[in-house]
Amino acid sequence: EIPDELLVDFVLARADELGDKPALVDGPSGRTLTYGALLAAVRSLAGGLVARGFEPGQTLAVLAPNLPEYAVVFHGVAYAGGVVTTINPTYTAHEIHHQLVDADARLLVTVAPFLEAARTAAEGTSVEEIFVIGEADGATPLTALMGEPLADQVPRDVHATVALPYSSGTTGVSKGVMLSHRNLVANVAQVLGPADLREDETLIAVLPFFHIYGMQVLMNCGLRTGATIVTMPRFDLEQFLSIHQEYGVTRSFVAPPIVVAMAKHPLVDSYDLSKLEQVFSGAAPLSAELALEAGKRLGCEVVQGYGMTEMSPVSHLTPVGQFKPGSVGVTAPNTEMRIVDPLSGEDLGLDADGEIWVRGPQVMLGYLNNAQATASTLDADGWLHTGDIGHVDEDGHVFVVDRLKELIKYKGFQVPPAELEAVLLTHPDVADAAVVGLPDEEAGEIPVAYVVRRAGSEATAEQIMEFVAGQVAHYKQVRRLEFIDAVPKSASGKILRRELRARAAG
Ligand code: ATP
Ligand code: MG
Repeated sequence: EIPDELLVDFVLARADELGDKPALVDGPSGRTLTYGALLAAVRSLAGGLVARGFEPGQTLAVLAPNLPEYAVVFHGVAYAGGVVTTINPTYTAHEIHHQLVDADARLLVTVAPFLEAARTAAEGTSVEEIFVIGEADGATPLTALMGEPLADQVPRDVHATVALPYSSGTTGVSKGVMLSHRNLVANVAQVLGPADLREDETLIAVLPFFHIYGMQVLMNCGLRTGATIVTMPRFDLEQFLSIHQEYGVTRSFVAPPIVVAMAKHPLVDSYDLSKLEQVFSGAAPLSAELALEAGKRLGCEVVQGYGMTEMSPVSHLTPVGQFKPGSVGVTAPNTEMRIVDPLSGEDLGLDADGEIWVRGPQVMLGYLNNAQATASTLDADGWLHTGDIGHVDEDGHVFVVDRLKELIKYKGFQVPPAELEAVLLTHPDVADAAVVGLPDEEAGEIPVAYVVRRAGSEATAEQIMEFVAGQVAHYKQVRRLEFIDAVPKSASGKILRRELRARAAG
């Protein structure tokens, strides 16, 4: 059953009753926003927006790191009947400009450090005014936008767009994804059942709220449950660990690069992580080996979920008590999945790799201003063609292999780079690794590895390539290996393989 409610009514349903309980805490400073204060601020921001003439369906953009006020802005706009578009703070002014134009944003909320970029980006767009969370010289504070509290949410159709996050841009230019109240409400409900989050839990929000994973799985699931969310504006391993210890974090929502650190970094042993019950990883492939290695060290299960911006974002997750190493879990409630041969469109059987198709109430309305991309992703029967390859086993557990687009075509074979990265990460001298397919006259493409060596390691490229060769089929061998200082990754934790390809191309 999917609740027939608007987003804020659903997510903050118990805010009044929870009153003085901390909803969001800024980890580094301890500054706290209680459930009661959150609801009051959401209502007065909505009141101010309506009084200002902000109309239902209009868009406000937010360019900010994780802070308690993020939830005020997000839900304040939704409560006023508007659309929130969330911008990646690592974007350049040029990229921000593109999103402001594409989304037709009328207002922009940011923080002091991004003010200059925000001003440059807003030139020549529909943005009428910029507000800052906190204070900044010569800028209007967000509090100036607050008005008389609005008692009731501005009426909207549950199928109207409420959030406009952009896809990560891993495979190309990022696309605006139109998500409705119903999409977001459905997915919060679909996650909360299997994940079994409890009100007495403390969650850490290091994954950015601008990205669908942080926005929904952390912010909205956490608030709906009545848990306490500790926010971190940026990732720093030491601070991340000390927040776990200080606040007694019970569940940590992360992406694979953080799992790598949790499995391998020596700092981890100096912190008390005994309250931690589960680590939940999503956004990019995580191997069974790494999940087990990290889990052993942390004394809890490292489970996965799978999703994409276009699915609000979750279609698969691991229900409590059903951990299977390497699996992204089972299909979420009220969701259908098919594994399809990408060439013939035929359904495949158990254990056979094919494209993952998903249908359910969490599937997006479409891409903004991009009917062509919408038509090639979402078919007439409502199936979302994810572009990811995977298979399902007899227990209904799904294993994501890689993106269709990233498969390396070596001679007649297809090599998933994620599989080679997983093998590389099992080498004791490898701190991090990425694999890409580079053009090769004879083979078409060859798998090339970029490896970050552990500090002090003197392993050679040949030794590491031999290690991989001993574990994979001949056609999957790494054909070239280079050492680099760091693997380029997006803010949502994905390897930016296109940057490595560009680097190789000179
Ligand atoms: P773009 O679509 O703009 O190229 P993106 O696909 O990286 O960017 P997101 O919506 O943030 O944008 O990411 C969704 C993708 O992340 C999925 O299609 C999938 O490839 C990957 N992904 C998410 N969770 C997992 C997981 N548990 N295992 C493997 N891959 C995952
Ligand atoms: Mg995508």
